[in-house]
Amino acid sequence: MIFKHLLVGPLDVNCFILGCEKTKESIVIDPGGNVQDIIDFLTTNHLKLKYILCTHSHFDHIGGNKQLKDFTGAKIAIHKDEADSITNISSTAALFGMKIDNSPEADILLNDGDKLYVGEEITLTTIHTPGHSSGSSSFLLENSKIIFVGDTLFAGSIGRTDLPGGDFSTLINSVKKNIFTLPDETTVLPGHGPDTSVGEEKRHNPFF
Ligand SMILES: [Zn+2]
Ligand SMILES: [Zn+2]
Repeated sequence: MIFKHLLVGPLDVNCFILGCEKTKESIVIDPGGNVQDIIDFLTTNHLKLKYILCTHSHFDHIGGNKQLKDFTGAKIAIHKDEADSITNISSTAALFGMKIDNSPEADILLNDGDKLYVGEEITLTTIHTPGHSSGSSSFLLENSKIIFVGDTLFAGSIGRTDLPGGDFSTLINSVKKNIFTLPDETTVLPGHGPDTSVGEEKRHNPFF
């Protein structure tokens, strides 16, 4: 599998590109910006982009959706509870003093348990982990012990819960029920900052 990590956008979001070596199909998770860098990587590796997958609809994670979809024609996928907010980010971004394109509407509205298949090597399973926002979701990469968690959980911290749709106890429950039940050695890839593991966070995260 081809795996690339990029830091993108004004708030340094972790963006991930996964590609199937055999079929060259690929998926991008959270293209918050720096779209030219993403396109350059896809082009250099002869990758066809099938999906733009968003952990949630905050502008720092989806700010590149429009430009990337315009260029590649890839389908945008996000949890169904973010369907409305995904097309309404420029006003929030303006509050932060930033000018960001609204995302096009989602092509695929995900439910908990839905799977996305990319080529022959990549299957991502949707795990609804609300709390940072109502439709925040994590994505488990099957056969690999890797989970992408967006802004739900960080190394030593958790996502903020004071934005619309956020709720502290919902977030804590999401992590306990859906992430901390995975094997300790599972690698956790957050939306910001360094990677960590389930075992590390269970032992040392002060919020739990
Ligand atoms: Zn966020
Ligand atoms: Zn974020």
